[in-house]
Amino acid sequence: MALEKIKNEIWFREELYPDFAQTIKVSKILFKKTTRDRKGRKLQKILILNTPRFGKMLVLDNIVQLTEVDEKYYHEPLAHCALFSHPNPKNILIIGGGDGGLLKEVVKHPVKSVELVDIDRDVIDLMKKYMPDFAKNSWQDKRLKIYIEDGAKFVKRTKRQYDVIMLDTPDPVGPAVPLFKTSFYLDCKKILAPNGIIIRQTGSSTLQPDEVSSNFRQMEELFPEVRVFITAVSTYVGGYFTFVAGANKKGLFQKSLSQIRKRFQKLKIQTSWYTPALHKASMILPEELAESLKKNEYGQELIIDLYDCDYSILTSKEKLYRFSKELCKIIEMKPYGEPIIPDFGYALSKTAGPSLVQLIESSSITAHYSPHWRLVCLNIFTCSSFDSHKTLQFVKEFFKADRIRAFLFERGPRLFKKELEIISIKSPHEKS
Ligand code: SAM
Repeated sequence: MALEKIKNEIWFREELYPDFAQTIKVSKILFKKTTRDRKGRKLQKILILNTPRFGKMLVLDNIVQLTEVDEKYYHEPLAHCALFSHPNPKNILIIGGGDGGLLKEVVKHPVKSVELVDIDRDVIDLMKKYMPDFAKNSWQDKRLKIYIEDGAKFVKRTKRQYDVIMLDTPDPVGPAVPLFKTSFYLDCKKILAPNGIIIRQTGSSTLQPDEVSSNFRQMEELFPEVRVFITAVSTYVGGYFTFVAGANKKGLFQKSLSQIRKRFQKLKIQTSWYTPALHKASMILPEELAESLKKNEYGQELIIDLYDCDYSILTSKEKLYRFSKELCKIIEMKPYGEPIIPDFGYALSKTAGPSLVQLIESSSITAHYSPHWRLVCLNIFTCSSFDSHKTLQFVKEFFKADRIRAFLFERGPRLFKKELEIISIKSPHEKS
């Protein structure tokens, strides 16, 4: 329940996380409604509240979007870090941003056109009605064109090219989900000019680490230069709040402080958060965040060969079934369905024998058993981490194996840029 009455006072309760919430005292509920698109389909729940601490506040789907007091800590870095990184931004595309907060910052720059695409006209109209002073006369700016449309559809159909694309969207919930898909990024890449920059909010680095690293990686696969900017917004709980930005040309985010300062002074733009020094500082990340972005591999694979295994285990379907179940517990992964243990028979050839395929919550376990050679070849592939030493100990004991040969691979490492690479590991006795 977003609005609660406690001792005759109204409090707004944001439950973005199952185990962490923020509550904000409300002096007046100015507006409350669930909006619908032209076809009558539900879009989002809108609340506009007046609060003693943060002034007027816009809430969508029970999540704080902006407050009058701290919006500048969000809109200024999102706008100015991108616009001052670009050599000469002229055509700007804003996806989302129906509250006008980003627009008012963008029109401070000598840009030629601003296209704003928001899925929900009500957000724009209600902001104009209940917070008229917020975006001031930016809505009347002659350079502005508004489209009421799903941003994902717009970027697919527009024929224009943009110098800067700004994604001022809510978190990946409700109508905003398509705006986090790679298909959307691919469409944005097509309409981004050669010197172009794309930037988006990617949530809290502490409470939404996957959102930052996943968007960083998505952009890295598409743009030659990708950087993270950080800020802190008091009503966006979770400490550091992040933006991920991609540039179509290397070097755009490496402008010197004096270069940025020169343009900032020339444009005489009024800001309350942004300064050229803070622009540069906001690209310096806490070590933990920087490390998480460096790591960013897709997953890891443990490949194990077990020798001198117990024959009675390799020939017992019941024991192989139990092995699969117990291994999932050891690697702390939920099995996805039952293990498939096809039996290719007990002939004399090395390939005869049972195999195993067990899907797990984040990928798979496969194994091939050769009772003939009392050999087990096991592959554990996951997109999350597990204790490989504990796993090796378990499988050795389970199959009563005498010898183990194992490889631990990072799969889909971030910085693989070669066209083709075959890593061949010869078996021990072969001279290279
Ligand atoms: N600063 C806020 C944040 O970080 O959560 C975002 C604020 S802004 C109000 C978000 C806007 O995105 C809303 O006006 C909403 O209507 C719009 N929006 C959501 N999904 C959209 C979509 N698929 N296409 C275009 N706009 C969308």
